[in-house]
Amino acid sequence: MIPRTVYDEEHEMFRDSVRRFLESEVVPFHAQWEKDGQVDRELWRKAGEQGYLVPQAPESYGGAEADFRYNAVIDEEVSRSGCTGLGWGVHSDIVVPYLMRYGSAEQKDKYIAPCVRGDIVTAIAMTEPGTGSDLQGIRTSAVADGDEYVINGSKTFITNGQHADLVVVVCKTDPDAGAAGTSLILVEADRAGFEKGRNLDKVGMKAQDTSELFFSDVRVPKENLLGEEGKGFVYLMQELPQERLSIGIMAMAASRVCLDQTIEYVKERKAFGKPLAALQNTQFKLAELDTELTSAQVFMDRCLELLVQGDLDTVTASKAKLLGSELQCRIVDECVQLHGGYGYMWEYPVARAFADSRVQRIYGGTSEVMKLIIGRSLIAD
Ligand SMILES: Cc1cc2nc3c(=O)[nH]c(=O)nc-3n(C[C@H](O)[C@H](O)[C@H](O)COP(=O)(O)OP(=O)(O)OC[C@H]3O[C@@H](n4cnc5c(N)ncnc54)[C@H](O)[C@@H]3O)c2cc1C
Repeated sequence: MIPRTVYDEEHEMFRDSVRRFLESEVVPFHAQWEKDGQVDRELWRKAGEQGYLVPQAPESYGGAEADFRYNAVIDEEVSRSGCTGLGWGVHSDIVVPYLMRYGSAEQKDKYIAPCVRGDIVTAIAMTEPGTGSDLQGIRTSAVADGDEYVINGSKTFITNGQHADLVVVVCKTDPDAGAAGTSLILVEADRAGFEKGRNLDKVGMKAQDTSELFFSDVRVPKENLLGEEGKGFVYLMQELPQERLSIGIMAMAASRVCLDQTIEYVKERKAFGKPLAALQNTQFKLAELDTELTSAQVFMDRCLELLVQGDLDTVTASKAKLLGSELQCRIVDECVQLHGGYGYMWEYPVARAFADSRVQRIYGGTSEVMKLIIGRSLIAD
């Protein structure tokens, strides 16, 4: 065992409370929420009451001013529970940090406290039907008209899309200026012309509401601009390392629980008169997976330390996302194999893990995009 040193005793106490909360308030209901296609909206408020949303928010807004390791503890525990319907990671690790970092005093005063309480659920809308990886190719436009912006366009695959009360929308404020014409604009869900589309029917993460969003002459005041006009792309690049590391962190926790469950399974299940665990192939597979996972965890923990220090660079975060998500999919696939036919049955956690994990290599930037970022850095002068 390589002991994990990234967390202190207080983080572990916090972990216990998150775990208990998930066991009582989430796990028993998650299968129903998978059928519903979304979690119960009230869960967000319950999580807010316990301090599980945006723990890093300033105390003046009801947060705990905690370091990002508390977010990581929540991410790990949610992944460990297998309850992939919770969109807390997008809210706490990705969207509210934009508000905290680039929001005006008025925006912060208006939105952060309700986000911490779970009264406001947030989403970030980058991807469009016509473009995902190539973010510069987005077409949703925000045209200035007096003291307002008029937004037109559509987005898809947006996490928390059904529950969202507030969406950070990536728009073109100057379509001819490429990346420099991109801006982030806050759109409240009750704005006229803003419409939530279908709750998308996904392969996995079935309790997670993931939606299309439509903007038809949506008027918002210019005060809804986040940060400066034309800086949207820069802000996205600055914040993506945290999002990518979160995905890597969740990948580690989900892989570990899947491997642990598989170890228990192969000890119980018999073939040819002895437990599967007695077969050399089983032991070799488990040994390979555990070795890779143990090594990756050390890397991920080091990345988390760097993030907390403010030193995690884009390339290293891309490595964390690439390594974590690819390894998770490999581990889960091997674990399904070790379960045999039972591994393909939805009632088995490993089957859900198989369906839930696949998207980790796609969202937050695909594995190929991570490789582009890493590869470019290697050949740069
Ligand atoms: C469940 C889920 C939740 C999501 N949540 C959100 C969200 O909250 N907000 C949001 O904005 N988006 C979200 N997304 C969208 C996600 O980020 C995109 O799907 C992803 O970035 C890929 O974009 P795309 O689907 O358009 O694929 P494409 O960009 O069309 O890519 C298709 C394939 O081509 C490859 N490819 C593309 N460009 C290159 C290149 N230059 N070199 C090599 N290969 C390349 C890709 O790697 C991929 O394999 C979510 C997606 C899913 C499935």
